[in-house]
Amino acid sequence: MSSPGAPQSPVWRASVLTLFPELFPGPLGASLAGKALAEGIWSLEAIDIRAFAADRHRTVDDNPAGGGPGMVMRADVLARAIDAASPLGDSRPRLLTSPRGRPLDQARVRALSEGPGILLIAGRFEGVDERVIEARRLEEVSIGDYVLSGGELAAMVVLDAVVRLLPGVMGNIASAEAESFAEGLLEYPQYTRPQVFEDRPIPEVLLSGDHARIARWRREQAERLTAARRPDLLSRRGGHEQE
Ligand code: SAH
Repeated sequence: MSSPGAPQSPVWRASVLTLFPELFPGPLGASLAGKALAEGIWSLEAIDIRAFAADRHRTVDDNPAGGGPGMVMRADVLARAIDAASPLGDSRPRLLTSPRGRPLDQARVRALSEGPGILLIAGRFEGVDERVIEARRLEEVSIGDYVLSGGELAAMVVLDAVVRLLPGVMGNIASAEAESFAEGLLEYPQYTRPQVFEDRPIPEVLLSGDHARIARWRREQAERLTAARRPDLLSRRGGHEQE
C-alpha cells in the first residue's frame, strides 16, 4: 500500500541459488545493505539447490565426463532450481558466478541496480555442466582473476555493489557520483581531522575554501592516480573524453 503522491519504487528482488543457503544474508545483513533489506528496499531469498535433487541421497554433482579431477554440478538439478526460482515471465537477469565470466564493473553494477532484480547462481565443485548455462542463457560473471572455492562470496560481492546504488540506500547521492570508476577515474585522496597527523598536514588547497581550486586539484589527483595505478582505465575512457 503506497500513499498517493508518493510513488513507491518496486522492491528490487534478489534470488540466490546455492548449496549453502545458511550463509545468507551474512554480511549483507549489516550496515547499509542490511538496513535497506530491513526497510524492504530490496528482498533476498536464498534457495537450496539440493532441494531440487531427485534421488534419495539428494545428489547435486557427479564425475566430469571425459575424466579429470573434481565434481561437476548436474545440469538437470540446477535447471529445476532455476525454473522454480525464476518462472516464465520473470524478467530478472540470470547470472552465474564464474571465473570464466565477464569481469564485473561499475557500469554493469549500475545497470543491474536499474533493473527489477537478479537471479544469482553460486557454483561449487569444478563448476556447472555447460548445457545448463546454454539452455537457461546464464550470463557468467567474474569478480576477478583468481579462483574462489565457491560462488557464495562472489554473489555477495555482486549484491553489495548493486544494493548500495538502489534509490534510498545511500544517504548522500553525490558520494556515488564522485567515487572511484564513476567517471572512469579512481577517486582522489581523502583527508579529515586531525589537521596534522604525525607531521603530515592536510594539503593546503583543501583548507583554502576555494571550491574551484579544490575541484581542479581533486581532478588532477584522480588523473595522476589513475595514470599511475590503472592506465587501462584511462585508455578505455579515451573515447568519450572527446564528446
Ligand atoms: N574449475 C573452475 C573453478 C571452480 S571454483 C575453473 O577453473 O574455472 C568453484 C565456484 O566458485 C565456481 O563455479 C564459481 O561459482 C565460484 N568462483 C570461483 N572463482 C570465482 C570468481 N573469480 N568470480 C566469480 N565466481 C567464482
